[in-house]
Amino acid sequence: MQFAPYLCAIALVSTAGWLSLDAAGIAALQDDDIERLRANGDDLAGMEASHIRFSENGFDWHLVRFTNEQRPSGPLWVVPHDDENAAFHGMIAAVRRHGGIGIVVDTGIASTRRQPGYGVCGVRPGTASGCDPNRNFDGRSPLFTRTILDQLPEGQPVIALHTNGAGFSGDGKGGRGSITMLDARFYARGEIRVRADGYFGNRGVAGLDDPDVYAIMPYRSGKAVPAADAGCRSALNAAGVNVWHEGVERSDGSLSNYIALNRPDIAYVNLEAKREANLAPGAEAQRLMIDAYLNGCAALWNKPASAPVAGR
Ligand SMILES: [Zn+2]
Repeated sequence: MQFAPYLCAIALVSTAGWLSLDAAGIAALQDDDIERLRANGDDLAGMEASHIRFSENGFDWHLVRFTNEQRPSGPLWVVPHDDENAAFHGMIAAVRRHGGIGIVVDTGIASTRRQPGYGVCGVRPGTASGCDPNRNFDGRSPLFTRTILDQLPEGQPVIALHTNGAGFSGDGKGGRGSITMLDARFYARGEIRVRADGYFGNRGVAGLDDPDVYAIMPYRSGKAVPAADAGCRSALNAAGVNVWHEGVERSDGSLSNYIALNRPDIAYVNLEAKREANLAPGAEAQRLMIDAYLNGCAALWNKPASAPVAGR
């Protein structure tokens, strides 16, 4: 009896495998993101779609993967939140434009932010009736974490795409949003000030000149911001991109925090655009930030001898 949990874990890992999706398989998903893509006159031409289902810690996960058939080696694009629709469109455009592999968490037809279920979610103590995918990157959820990160093509960066609710730039609540370039304490006193480790872009690009639109580059706190990250930030700022170096001491279970603490060998950026009814500005902001990152930050991943990305 005492071996049962061990055997169960082995079975879970060994049965994990990505399955190719043909047109009928894609239609059967009834995924709002893909249907919206078609409604906009776009499609998945040039991309191989596949998916995987697995259960871990009480949650049934469904990931959908989009691979550029011509250029499978490229960044790993990750969209953890199914309700962040502009990020999905930004990811599809990015896979097409820059190659690589895009992975989205599909929470089902309802496209909720959190995965329904009941169990242990990432770093959270106790059990919960829903799991935020971007709090589930952790050693305690190795299947979820590895299934995504094992897809990273060698020598390439991970680029996470998100949209966020309005922060201080107009949420109508005095700025409760935490996804912002601004310092909350100063804002409460009526003072606009950039948060610690934040650097505004050159304000020269209209679509990026917003404190809720920015790139997050995590690093292990207690150390200085790595010189290569600072160089990347300068290039991003010069292209109009706001940058926040997120100092991480203890992981909150986000992909950012997980990579900063556990996989510093991986070049990583999280691009935050605004969540709006019209998806076009968010997807366009993602495009501008992606181009700036790939143009100005290649020193972070184009290393002569890149560290192995798999086989932890
Ligand atoms: Zn998100």
